[in-house]
Amino acid sequence: MTAKLSVSLPVHKDVLLHLRVPKTVKLTELDHLPHGLLERPATALHHSLDGPTLIHLEGRNPQPLFISVLQHGNEVTGWEAVRRLMKSHYEFDQLPRSLSILIGNTRAAKQGLRRLDDQLDFNRCWPNGKYPDSEPGKLFQQVTHQMRARAPIASIDIHNNTGLNPHYAAINRVRPRFLRLASYFSSKVVYFTMPEGTQSRAFSEFCPSLTLECGQAGEVHGTDHSIGFLETCMHLEEIPAAPMDANDVHLFHMVATVRIPDDVLFGFGRVPTEIAFRENLDVLNFQELPAGVSFGDVRGGPSKPLVVTDTNGVDVTDLYFRFDRDQLETKREIMPSMLTQDRRVIQQDCLCYLMERVHFEDVAEITDHDPLPEGIHRSDRPGEPAL
Ligand SMILES: [Zn+2]
Repeated sequence: MTAKLSVSLPVHKDVLLHLRVPKTVKLTELDHLPHGLLERPATALHHSLDGPTLIHLEGRNPQPLFISVLQHGNEVTGWEAVRRLMKSHYEFDQLPRSLSILIGNTRAAKQGLRRLDDQLDFNRCWPNGKYPDSEPGKLFQQVTHQMRARAPIASIDIHNNTGLNPHYAAINRVRPRFLRLASYFSSKVVYFTMPEGTQSRAFSEFCPSLTLECGQAGEVHGTDHSIGFLETCMHLEEIPAAPMDANDVHLFHMVATVRIPDDVLFGFGRVPTEIAFRENLDVLNFQELPAGVSFGDVRGGPSKPLVVTDTNGVDVTDLYFRFDRDQLETKREIMPSMLTQDRRVIQQDCLCYLMERVHFEDVAEITDHDPLPEGIHRSDRPGEPAL
């Protein structure tokens, strides 16, 4: 009754340079849930699964919904949502539609980490990214090929972030069905074209595709929200293609990344250091801020304590911030996202992203133009969105 198809891919070490590569990364495909899998938290999946696993489950409507979880091993909400959803009643009831579930980085999940030191970030290795010849790159090429042939109704990739952020869906193409699907999750939708090599962007070539940001890992309401959304998706007969009304969804474009240079000393609250960010800085996430809002105090240090780069990697700090009044002050209307007070995230990734509202209903070139090819040749940059 059940089939297990294992495909081993050859090892190519040339692309990964200094990275230590495990001998093989293979895709396992299953047509059933392994016994006891739903009992396992993310940290224990490695007992049942030998790496990335694509599980196809049959439902009443054969057109599958694709769900991706644990591309980042410490972002457990997706797996928690899937296992609670399945356990709630689908262990006994027929699924309303088929599911194809990709369980990603079980090795990193075992350690509670985004990725291991010897691994690439899985969500940078999909087609159109920079690592097509890497082990995960080849594996995800295979997943993409498989799923394109199955013509899913939609693709949902579930993530968590740090800091205080509302739950939101991100899209890579501004199309009515993408917006409609995103609006079923949240009224705030983010449009991004970088970084390259994300799962949602690869799948956006053949189906409506979302990245869900479900707040911080381990929060029960993030899991509850995801379960409700997945249940909605499973019961959709189709996703309406009628244009969205501007009042139904608020679309924001990720326009820039804010980083703190390595040589700047910084802290939060009343601390004697060069940059003292205001306490609870992350309450500013997803707030549309006017010019003149202070992120904190400047007490010496370099003349440019923040560096803002646009999606082409160009320094646009002067467009967004001024520092001449002993403050880190906004210079124009912006909306930050993913502001975090986690020093490790700030140092490894960035302080935040800046977004601007898109009036999609009257921006024909964004609505009609496919942005995918533009980004393919962009150069390598640090501080990309941690999606
Ligand atoms: Zn993630």
